Amino acid sequence: MKRYSAFAVAREALRHHLGWERAWRSPEPQKRYDAIIVGAGGHGLATAYWLGKNHGIRNVAVLEKGWLGGGNTGRNTTIIRSNYLQDPSAAIYEKARSLYETMSQDLNYNVMFSPRGVLMLAQTHHEVRGYRRTAQANALQGVETEFVGPERVKELCPIINLSGPRYPVLGALWQPRGGTARHDAVAWGYARACSDMGMDIIQKCEVTGIRREGGRVVGVDTMRGAIGCDRLGIVVAGHSGALADMAGFRLPIESVALQALVSEPIKPCMDVVVMANTVHGYMSQSDKGEMVIGGGADGYNNYTQRGSFHHVEETVRALCETFPMISRLKMLRWWGGIVDMTGDRSPIISRTPVEGVYINCGWGTGGFKAIPGSGWAMAELMAKGTSPLADPFSLTRFREGRFIDESVAAGVAH
Ligand SMILES: Cc1cc2nc3c(=O)[nH]c(=O)nc-3n(C[C@H](O)[C@H](O)[C@H](O)COP(=O)(O)OP(=O)(O)OC[C@H]3O[C@@H](n4cnc5c(N)ncnc54)[C@H](O)[C@@H]3O)c2cc1C
Repeated sequence: MKRYSAFAVAREALRHHLGWERAWRSPEPQKRYDAIIVGAGGHGLATAYWLGKNHGIRNVAVLEKGWLGGGNTGRNTTIIRSNYLQDPSAAIYEKARSLYETMSQDLNYNVMFSPRGVLMLAQTHHEVRGYRRTAQANALQGVETEFVGPERVKELCPIINLSGPRYPVLGALWQPRGGTARHDAVAWGYARACSDMGMDIIQKCEVTGIRREGGRVVGVDTMRGAIGCDRLGIVVAGHSGALADMAGFRLPIESVALQALVSEPIKPCMDVVVMANTVHGYMSQSDKGEMVIGGGADGYNNYTQRGSFHHVEETVRALCETFPMISRLKMLRWWGGIVDMTGDRSPIISRTPVEGVYINCGWGTGGFKAIPGSGWAMAELMAKGTSPLADPFSLTRFREGRFIDESVAAGVAH
């Protein structure tokens, strides 16, 4: 793989950009691999990357039914933060956030990580109490957050309306090293690094069945034929239930649509991310100037990759109250993704009842921020059978009643 650098850009500019090589290969599937990952979203690609990088397992295929990064990874609003309440969550989300800090250098791919800071507004006294508690938990966990008052909120985000018609801003949970990154670039950067390690990323290759012998996985059926493997990682977000069904077990998970939208581009007016959970909306400004907006997940299960009208109305109304200056903006695009929700709003990274099959899902409305840490943990679990970061998130917690309740941190989409 040729390294990307300022020197390479200058060199290619002088020779009409004819010297660039493809970022990743498009190989035909082989008959078998040591490990197969289903799903070329961020989590699947990061799992493959860390399998190769940390554990030397490189005879790996990543199978994707569409195009890589075309699922939720390429549809999300890219907020990165680690201000969760429970210790296992803080550990994995903070690991991920810290890996984002160096991801562009590690992958030699500019993922445009922008630690501009994230404000989670407290607009009821209940939220003030909740976020003060989270700030204290974060202090014990070594996660840098702070509860700030309304004056500091206004300083950080001058376009905000502190005395909204329905809910005044009473303060906010502030994470200064939270922020955003370019979602496609995260998928593309991992794909390029995996391909460089000799792994096969096979797009347009839907997995349609999971082959088992004596309670162990031996391979998968795909649209491009059967492929054998010793280990199988299922990392398909909103389709996790369907893949678990193929393997013969059930998951405590529901799939619902979550939507987002962007406005026409405007001059820079907001250099932090703001989430307003009570009124249900959040917003940041992209490098192109578009306001990136998201709201809540649908209240009913479905597999449609588009949003519903009542949510878009609710979200835009909430944001117009919070940021009156956006009320005249035109919205340019509106889309949805299928997110995978667990009852305790925490992910599942786990072995399964089928030997050799591992599952990574349940990131719901907030898994983009976790991609590098989740891949790290899932790879360790697949390589060693155990992982300190992943173990608390095993499927057994639902049987044992050992929930990792993140309904406050993850109660709104983000
Ligand atoms: C509108 C929206 C906004 C969001 N905003 C944020 C945010 O601001 N911050 C945040 O942290 N998170 C956010 N999220 C959540 C985040 O996008 C997801 O948690 C994360 O991207 C999940 O990544 P993934 O790799 O697990 O799944 P995906 O990116 O969905 O990848 C799974 C892949 O599996 C493939 N697949 C499915 N079935 C099969 C099959 N049978 N065979 C082969 N391949 C298959 C799919 O095609 C897909 O490409 C948002 C999500 C949405 C929809």
